[in-house]
Amino acid sequence: MQSVDLTNIPVVDNHCHGVTTDQVFADQAFGEVEAWRRAFTESTDAGMPREHVATTAFYRRLIRTLAPFLGCETTEDAVFAARIAREDKGLTAELLRAANIDTLLLDTGFPPPEVVFPVPELAELGGCRAEPMLRLEVLMEELLAEHDSLSDTEEALSIALEDVRAGGHVALKSIAAYRTGLDIREWPREDAEVSFREYKRAAEAGSARLVHKPLLDTLLHVAFAQAARQEIPVQFHVGYGDADTDLLLGNPLYLRRVLQRPDYRGMPVVLLHECYPYTRQGGYLAAVYENAYLDLSYGIPLLGYGEMLSFTRQALGVAPSSKLMYSSDGIGVPELHWISAIDGRSVLGQVLGEMVHHEETSLTEAEAAGESMLRGNAIRLYEL
Ligand SMILES: [Zn+2]
Repeated sequence: MQSVDLTNIPVVDNHCHGVTTDQVFADQAFGEVEAWRRAFTESTDAGMPREHVATTAFYRRLIRTLAPFLGCETTEDAVFAARIAREDKGLTAELLRAANIDTLLLDTGFPPPEVVFPVPELAELGGCRAEPMLRLEVLMEELLAEHDSLSDTEEALSIALEDVRAGGHVALKSIAAYRTGLDIREWPREDAEVSFREYKRAAEAGSARLVHKPLLDTLLHVAFAQAARQEIPVQFHVGYGDADTDLLLGNPLYLRRVLQRPDYRGMPVVLLHECYPYTRQGGYLAAVYENAYLDLSYGIPLLGYGEMLSFTRQALGVAPSSKLMYSSDGIGVPELHWISAIDGRSVLGQVLGEMVHHEETSLTEAEAAGESMLRGNAIRLYEL
């Protein structure tokens, strides 16, 4: 079956993270190679990078794809030596440029800004454009530290989000799925007030992490109102993540309450990471709600090629291609941003080729859909 050739289309990576300025993996608890492997797992268990990560389909493909690119033997040791022989900036520039990136949309909430290349520098290294997105929970925690009542915090949040684009951000991002789940509710005022006081006590005791559901949900509604008014996209972490996320509560169907609100219909909702493994549910939402979009991420969640084909078929099988957008979710190491661009073009090309074969679409339409998913849809949605 003939694939649709998307190899020369520059990508808009609609969700990724910064690259750390230090690409040398010196770690006291791990050997150097094991420390590098930690970039390719969502597990925080120490035995995983030591014993198991190198046997994943993703990691094996990474080594086999990197070896010819770096001009070395196809072994893990040779690949690691070749990447470590390059200096941090050189390696980052080489991989990002080879990925042919139009724009990187960066979630600057993690890793912390002090350890990654500043956004303008990353753009310069990659020979591309880079735009930051605002992580809501980080902003909320900052404002909670400054205010002594829930209503003051709400007002400050509303003001901080008064003009998101003028503030230099192209989108908002929420990690509610990591904190308290996607079943974002409207709470009675008293419950939210109690939750606020509980948060304050926890913060005074040294834990300023916002994991207090009535409070987080209440503040999210303040943000949603602003996003809807300004038609600013809100990205939600959905599905696959580290063990900190409760995957049962990461099902995108929990977002129904938010998606059903008529006053939020101006807010584009971007469901990240193909909602893996809830891709069918995410695709369904993108098919039913005009303002729901599905992100197709080919770096993380660190899948084998067959599984990437599978989620891409599921997404394109139910959702309009005008609602699908490419990303890498690359973080920390530039290899993720790079291999994702290669795999994303290849997998999308193959699945579009199947659609042509089944006479669902013409080759010309399939090529245009490929360009839209890799680039055009994001340019329109984020007003790049
Ligand atoms: Zn991410």
